[in-house]
Amino acid sequence: RAWGWSLAGELRQAAARDPGRTAVVDDQGVELTYAELLDRAERLARAIRAALGVQAGERIGVLCRNHHGLIETIVAATLLGADAVLVNTGLSAAQLATVSEEQRLRVLVHDAEFAERILGLPAELHRLDERAREELIANALPGELRPPARDGRIIVLTSGTTGAPKGARRPTPNGFGPLVSIIDRIPLHARDRVMIAAPLFHTWGYAALQVAFALRATIVLHRRFDPAATLADLVRHRCEALFAVPVMVQRLLEVPPPDPRPPLKVVAVSGSALPGNLAPRFMDVYGDVLYNLYGSTEVSWASIAGPAELREAPTTAGRPPHGTRLEILDADGQPVPSGRAGRIFVGNEMLFEGYTSGAERDRHEGLLDTGDLGRISAEGLLFVDGRADDMIVSGGENVFPSEVEDLLARLPQVREAAVIGVPDPEYGQRLAAFLALHPGETLDPEAVREYVRHYLARFSVPRDVVFVKYLPRNATGKVLVRELRRYYG
Ligand code: ATP
Repeated sequence: RAWGWSLAGELRQAAARDPGRTAVVDDQGVELTYAELLDRAERLARAIRAALGVQAGERIGVLCRNHHGLIETIVAATLLGADAVLVNTGLSAAQLATVSEEQRLRVLVHDAEFAERILGLPAELHRLDERAREELIANALPGELRPPARDGRIIVLTSGTTGAPKGARRPTPNGFGPLVSIIDRIPLHARDRVMIAAPLFHTWGYAALQVAFALRATIVLHRRFDPAATLADLVRHRCEALFAVPVMVQRLLEVPPPDPRPPLKVVAVSGSALPGNLAPRFMDVYGDVLYNLYGSTEVSWASIAGPAELREAPTTAGRPPHGTRLEILDADGQPVPSGRAGRIFVGNEMLFEGYTSGAERDRHEGLLDTGDLGRISAEGLLFVDGRADDMIVSGGENVFPSEVEDLLARLPQVREAAVIGVPDPEYGQRLAAFLALHPGETLDPEAVREYVRHYLARFSVPRDVVFVKYLPRNATGKVLVRELRRYYG
């Protein structure tokens, strides 16, 4: 059977080819080789089958921060032919109840810190925390795992920034295509040392994990993101690559850079838009190593911008990598001329196989609708304007929050900015800007409006300017628009 682009397949291959190579190092002092990691995952699989009778086709939820246990659990589930449902650690008790019911979870493997949040879940759901998992692994009986009746799948939940999180079934393409499409643009190498700071339960962190396994990389993990600890470990473990979300990169710039700098060749970010001036600021401190990947749970990564492109155009999402088609279509499904905005459609081997609810996304001749609007410049660079649903229509004019946010973020006093549309009796919608300032800074709302008026059209000027301490964000650092809307009741 082909290995496929699955964690279990990649782990088996890495353990066979490079058994003594360190696979994971985490911030609890655990260090495991590829052979040890596979052995633990196989023991866990046998023990879960023996103790809980989990069958192929059933679902195991994983509610864990970034550590070796999350990886072992995903691999164990798929070795049993069960599906692993990666659950966002930022979900509330009520959202967890919905996910557990909708996904018909049999078992939930969770970190002890979430014990209280899952108290309300049905009694028949088996829960395994770190201690229970270690006991199962320690006491697993020897034996062979029979190949399961079906391949286990990975189900990734969307972020739920716009509504309830949806379960998306990931495909299992031949691993060659996705790997080539990454190393086509990003200088990653076999046996690199990489830190994955993006949450592993999210589509981007999970993709990074697949890439790292395929490269037999040593993977450094921290349970929680902390900028100073991240920089210290990048130096200590001599990491060549960091996988993160944009807000983490922003936080790295808020602490003093270590001396000497970490030997980074690649800092790859994805999951949300790169704020306007972040790329040059980051590269001035850490070198020309930044890569911006545009993608989603449904399409995986669809375009990549490298350091040279980001120096030229700091907000670009770059170009589609090898094996990917990217088109901007109008409402009739026709390609729009370069430079003009339209809906972004993507075709690649990694398109999701549908939501677990049975709902689908629009497809057009093999291309999937991303739900995002964007443009491709005459040079072939993609610029993502944002989600079609987030577009603000004010007095009949279309405004993309990202355009105004990028401008506001350039004000030296501003730490972070978000713009939303709020109902307005006169204009239908008006713009509201939420600004978090650097400590000790102040700004006058009228000066903010004056500044925007200088660069953008009248209808792009935020009439409301709200100062906040910080912006509400989900676990992947995406601003929670629905929380901002709550400000208006
Ligand atoms: P939900 O649909 O539940 O609200 P979500 O769509 O936020 O979840 P993800 O799949 O994590 O969940 O987010 C993908 C979206 O994030 C993309 O469709 C796009 O809008 C945005 N995005 C991701 N990467 C980039 C990027 N590099 N530049 C701009 N936008 C990005």
